[in-house]
Amino acid sequence: MEYKIALIRGDGIGPEVVGEAVKVLNAVGEKFGHTFTYEEVLLGGCATDAVGKSYPDGTAEKCKACDAVLLGAVGGPKWGSDKPAEQRPETALLAIRKDLGLYANLRPAALRTAMAGACPLKKETAEKGIDLMMVRELTGGIYFGKRDKYQTEDRGMEATDLMAYSEKEIERIGRRAFELARLRRKKVSSVDKANVLETSRLWRSVMHRLAAEYPDVQYEDVLVDNCAMQLVRDPGQFDVVVTENMFGDILSDEASMVTGSIGLLPSASIGDSAPGLYEPIHGSAPDIAGQDKANPIATILSVAMMMRYSFHLPAEADAIERAVDAVLADGWRTADIAEPGVTPIGTRQMGDRICQKLLG
Ligand code: NAD
Repeated sequence: MEYKIALIRGDGIGPEVVGEAVKVLNAVGEKFGHTFTYEEVLLGGCATDAVGKSYPDGTAEKCKACDAVLLGAVGGPKWGSDKPAEQRPETALLAIRKDLGLYANLRPAALRTAMAGACPLKKETAEKGIDLMMVRELTGGIYFGKRDKYQTEDRGMEATDLMAYSEKEIERIGRRAFELARLRRKKVSSVDKANVLETSRLWRSVMHRLAAEYPDVQYEDVLVDNCAMQLVRDPGQFDVVVTENMFGDILSDEASMVTGSIGLLPSASIGDSAPGLYEPIHGSAPDIAGQDKANPIATILSVAMMMRYSFHLPAEADAIERAVDAVLADGWRTADIAEPGVTPIGTRQMGDRICQKLLG
């Protein structure tokens, strides 16, 4: 089969980690007889430098003409909050997600066996295993609600951010969660704050209606404060965790920390029709950019997610994940995950070793 992939290399370490992911894509093509072609798409600080705005005209159209989008990372001190919105890389990220209709963010947090020592939790907790999938609603809620800032007569400045959700928005993300659970261990934990928030009560009622449609999937409601606690007390209890935008933003970072390095964690953002967007959860790491020090594994595992969720190629996804695990089991580490006494390898060498395992 032939697949066209939009490559957004971005800023900082983005181009380095995407470069290794492309090597892996080509190795998958060779091994399984697929052809991957690439469309370079400029977005982020590098686009601001080149054309004056971080989200150049026609970006969404270019991506929509592809089967999937692979993004490295964008941002850096050069394009900080003092710059106008159209020049800031974060503006471009929000815009592309919105224009591609990517309403579901999937973030697996899995403790890779060879990396169990990197888990900051108690040994007995880590030994139970951690393998959960955070499903975060990405285009609604307080991050997209009406906001205001105004002067009051007696209380100084006041600001508001509106959190709004519609049944339709909740239902489509909920369905994603239940469908994913069917491919995994068949459990959905829906996280809300229904004891306080009206949006959460609506969220919960829609989830209950869906739960009745998926009787083969075990369902539970979890309050967000309790979920934050359970993620460090016993993360092994979770399979698919679904939640709204802001709760998901915070909880997915917490979940990723319990598995060790952010350099290992991929993510996918998907919608109903447009191509999915695959990216590592980490940022552009300006402190190590251009030094061959970045860990490319999160981006390479994002390619595995692309195989699984956009191209429906589970064998190819498994092969990438197995190759990563084999390289880690052999003891190879980039600097961010190297145990004391281990001499780290560079970005390119890590990519090459994963390709060798894949083709071996
Ligand atoms: P960061 O994730 O870039 O870096 C945090 C720390 O982790 C740094 O010490 C960095 O060196 C290290 N790190 C990150 N990825 C690594 C990797 N693959 N290998 C080895 N070490 C790695 O977060 P930050 O420093 O808060 O942000 C830097 C820039 O990235 C900011 O401009 C921010 O806005 C942007 N950012 C972009 C995205 C994205 O593109 N989706 C996400 C988060 C942050």
